[in-house]
Amino acid sequence: ASKKRGRNAFEAFAPAMQADSNLRMTVEEGLRTALAQEELVLHFQPKVALADGRLLGVEALLRWNRPGHGLVAPSDFIGLAEDSGLILPIGEWVLRQACADAVRISTRLGYAVPMAVNMSPRQFRQPGLLHRVEEALETAGLAPALLELEITESVLIDDTEVAAALLQALHRKGVRLTIDDFGTGYSSLSYLHRFPVTTLKIDQSFIADLPSNPYSEAIVASVIGLARSLKLHVVAEGVETAEQHQRLCAHQCEGGQGYLFSHPLSLEALCQMLEQRQSVEADVT
Ligand code: C2E
Ligand code: MG
Ligand code: MG
Ligand code: MG
Repeated sequence: ASKKRGRNAFEAFAPAMQADSNLRMTVEEGLRTALAQEELVLHFQPKVALADGRLLGVEALLRWNRPGHGLVAPSDFIGLAEDSGLILPIGEWVLRQACADAVRISTRLGYAVPMAVNMSPRQFRQPGLLHRVEEALETAGLAPALLELEITESVLIDDTEVAAALLQALHRKGVRLTIDDFGTGYSSLSYLHRFPVTTLKIDQSFIADLPSNPYSEAIVASVIGLARSLKLHVVAEGVETAEQHQRLCAHQCEGGQGYLFSHPLSLEALCQMLEQRQSVEADVT
């Protein structure tokens, strides 16, 4: 009986694996054509100064407008794009589009709006990245200081020598560098003075725990203190409640990002929201 059960269990397992790999192949095929079919879109989420709500910049977040599936979130395809290597052409598109959109947004609003772009580790290890970034900036006519690259700690751990040289070159160019999801990786603090990092972004999992989890709050407070000592900017991600906002202000966290302030928005919706805010402020003063 046990032999029979074992065989059945295997048979039940195999089709599921097959279905999974079929699904991956279908998604990969769709993703392959997504670029050519112009199905990729960027949404933008503001980063604000916690003390006064001033706009610090926006972050470009990728979405896939997949036929028959609606707007697909990056968690459903970035991993696959990484594995298949599609992240390279997709990342290049994101970089160019984000730079062009930064110019569009700044022109429309009449003030410079810094743009943050997420970079996958694989993209970061791609030869010629510096040149690609320079080209994207030049084509768009964007000042390098208005571009911020968000990388995760793994980039700094994987290939330290190459990463250091590339980051130094980007830094000399004036491009800003942010460590995204800070606190979730290896958090070897020694790299913070070895690499020209400008900003730490506290991972949203710690913010989600505020204020109920004293350990998370202690970590948040430590990261803010660390940023202050090292003269780095610090932004909390995933701020959803007034209470979280208040705790972050109490710890003198500089910036925040999250649904409390704004969801990621299309370029048009973002500009309308910021224009409206401006006119409200003009009425008050
Ligand atoms: P991330 O860079 O850490 O971005 C933050 C994620 O949290 C975004 O999810 C954002 O929509 C979401 N978020 C913002 N505010 C809140 C909040 O208050 N509460 C909660 N629960 N979530 C919030 P999204 O857009 O689904 O992106 C997920 C991840 O996908 C990003 O994490 C980033 O690692 C990656 N990603 C997005 N766009 C790109 C891209 O163009 N290239 C690459 N390589 N990765 C990207
Ligand atoms: Mg990010
Ligand atoms: Mg993050
Ligand atoms: Mg994250």
